[in-house]
Amino acid sequence: MAEISDILIIGGGIAGLSAAAALSEQARVIVLEAEEQIGFHSSGRSATMLHYFLGDRLVRELTLASRGFFEDPPDGFTDAPLGHAMPVLIHAREDEREELDQLEADIALFARMDRLDRAGVAELCPLLKDDARYGIADRNGFRLDPHALLQGNLRQLRNHEGELHEKARVASIKRANGCWQISTERGDVYSAPILVNAAGAWADAIARLAGVRPLGLEPKRRTIITFDAPPGIELDGLPFAKTVGEELYFAPESGRLFASPMDEVPSEPTDAQPDEYEMALAAHRMEERTIVKVERIHSRWAGLRTFTPDRHPAVGFAPDAEGFFWLAGQGGFGLQTSPMMARIAASLISGNAWPINDVTEAELSPGRFFGQMA
Ligand SMILES: Cc1cc2nc3c(=O)[nH]c(=O)nc-3n(C[C@H](O)[C@H](O)[C@H](O)COP(=O)(O)OP(=O)(O)OC[C@H]3O[C@@H](n4cnc5c(N)ncnc54)[C@H](O)[C@@H]3O)c2cc1C
Repeated sequence: MAEISDILIIGGGIAGLSAAAALSEQARVIVLEAEEQIGFHSSGRSATMLHYFLGDRLVRELTLASRGFFEDPPDGFTDAPLGHAMPVLIHAREDEREELDQLEADIALFARMDRLDRAGVAELCPLLKDDARYGIADRNGFRLDPHALLQGNLRQLRNHEGELHEKARVASIKRANGCWQISTERGDVYSAPILVNAAGAWADAIARLAGVRPLGLEPKRRTIITFDAPPGIELDGLPFAKTVGEELYFAPESGRLFASPMDEVPSEPTDAQPDEYEMALAAHRMEERTIVKVERIHSRWAGLRTFTPDRHPAVGFAPDAEGFFWLAGQGGFGLQTSPMMARIAASLISGNAWPINDVTEAELSPGRFFGQMA
């Protein structure tokens, strides 16, 4: 016998769980997650920062509209804070100054930035070398707690009588009698009129299983290493520090430092593992830009950031299959945009009012990849 619900969501990452929490207010929702634990893939492997230096205007609008949720979550969502304050510093050498000026102009609408000279950069981040001559700082940066965020969404789902089924890898998807019929590898069967595809790097594979046209998603691997800070450096108060170009970021992490060479290596959807080359590159760039010597890599991980062809997320019903809803392509900003993305999904599925003024349905519509408007 099939288990019947109003909405089935494939994927127990931040996209699937935040949408589930929002949708379960008005519908019976079941989330199917292939792994034994939520957030096992991208959502558990991120740099966990909320900042405005990612993506373009649309991503910044979604981030800005999500921020209030993290600072003041709804009643009953969580007992733990969803993050803590951490300044964000973008630093530049002389030859990068123009790029910094342009970025500052782009960000001005979204965050109040302080312009820093060499002394200001050194005061905020004493680890940077002298050639970090210019900086812009967002003193209101926010470091997210992905565990609290995932658990909070799960709690909301359960409070609304929704369910999460783990170790439920979807193996087949068919449409029959106005419903999606889904079977898992273990042989469990589910049925619902609406299927939300929040399978992260696997979202195109899920579409193919359902006979739906894929979007051309590109999963890209990103690597992070952790290592010791130099003795005597006070880690509390250090910023999330990023080069103005896509070269390096680093920040304090559980009594050490973490760094990423901001790699974007094309990958199959998989349990991503760090590669020696990118780990060495992270250490090299850290030593190039800072006074830190990376003597020993303490830990390392990699995760996939999955992009649509225009690097904007895809949220909306598939133009070619009734009841098939895309929630994919969150790239490197899926945590920090998740509250607004979930509200947008709930608006399109449950008919709630459109929740954001400066982003249109057409900009997010999956149909844009097939020459169709929302
Ligand atoms: C190194 C790194 C740094 C990042 N830094 C930031 C940051 O600072 N800020 C930010 O906001 N974002 C950041 N991101 C991006 C963010 O992590 C992602 O955008 C977000 O996690 C995507 O969430 P998701 O739910 O779509 O994907 P996932 O978390 O990967 O979830 C998809 C889920 O679908 C499941 N699934 C797949 N196939 C099936 C199937 N057949 N059946 C059942 N389940 C299935 C998978 O098991 C998986 O759990 C970073 C990512 C990485 C890798």
